[in-house]
Amino acid sequence: MSKAAKLSRPYRVESGKKFRLKDYDPADTGGLKLEKDHAAELLEKGVELLASLQDRLYAQDKRALLLIFQAMDAAGKDGTIKHVLSGVNPQGCQVYSFKAPSAEELDHDFLWRTTKCLPERGRLGIFNRSYYEEVLVVKVHPQILAGQKLPPEVLSKHVWQERYEDIASFERYLSRNGIVVVKFFLNVSKKEQKKRFLDRLVEPEKNWKFALGDVAERKHWDSYMAAYEDAIRATATPWAPWYVVPADSKWFTRLAVASAVIDALEKMDLAYPEVDEAKRAELAKAKVELEAEKG
Ligand code: ATP
Ligand code: MG
Repeated sequence: MSKAAKLSRPYRVESGKKFRLKDYDPADTGGLKLEKDHAAELLEKGVELLASLQDRLYAQDKRALLLIFQAMDAAGKDGTIKHVLSGVNPQGCQVYSFKAPSAEELDHDFLWRTTKCLPERGRLGIFNRSYYEEVLVVKVHPQILAGQKLPPEVLSKHVWQERYEDIASFERYLSRNGIVVVKFFLNVSKKEQKKRFLDRLVEPEKNWKFALGDVAERKHWDSYMAAYEDAIRATATPWAPWYVVPADSKWFTRLAVASAVIDALEKMDLAYPEVDEAKRAELAKAKVELEAEKG
């Protein structure tokens, strides 16, 4: 395992059994105390490594990597996606954001809209929010579930357990198709979120990011944390691990996420496609032809 991949290991959750959110400190920086510039330099190196791995993923065209980002508002999802993926070839990368479902989406099963957006072989797919909202915001606000047009017989007290099972089975299915799933919970503290909301109110160039509804959601903070803990406990597996990434320091969040993506890619057997004898002869012939061209 490379040094870059190691940084994220303490935040990786592969089994839900002993998982407790309170064991993960949002302010953790992995023992590093970095100046802004140094952190940016390190991230740049990580991004370069990530880009070269992604190039091989694309060339090999067999596997795909799906990165799922979940977090409370202002935890830094957008900035992390932007910075960590800044160096990758846009042709090999697809980003989708999932907001409250449309009328058309509500006419389907809950995995429908995200399934349509899964990455093709050779690609890196990013979900900014995902089907996990179905056991997060929907669990915190039961009236959303009531509006999902579900028949009464599926709305038993087992509905959350059943959704966890369906999600876990779906991720197992993806892994058995060569799609590696890695899930991130950007773990911001309630205090840091307040600070970031206040910044959005005070700094004119950040005003656009402020939504009144976000402050209302803070009132449900504990329910959200309980829902995250339950979801992670039920769906953390070796083939679709969660990373509970400290998110009070943006520079560290970005480094840790880059590290986890590098780890996932390094674990895949990403070699450039083999060139066989016949192909080699073809290439040699093309070279001779090109060199013989006049002008
Ligand atoms: P940002 O605030 O940075 O723009 P965001 O991801 O919070 O990004 P918003 O448009 O603010 O985007 O919020 C999207 C909202 O949609 C979130 O509150 C989320 O919980 C909600 N949402 C996503 N999926 C579902 C779903 N399946 N059912 C109900 N609400 C959902
Ligand atoms: Mg929002």
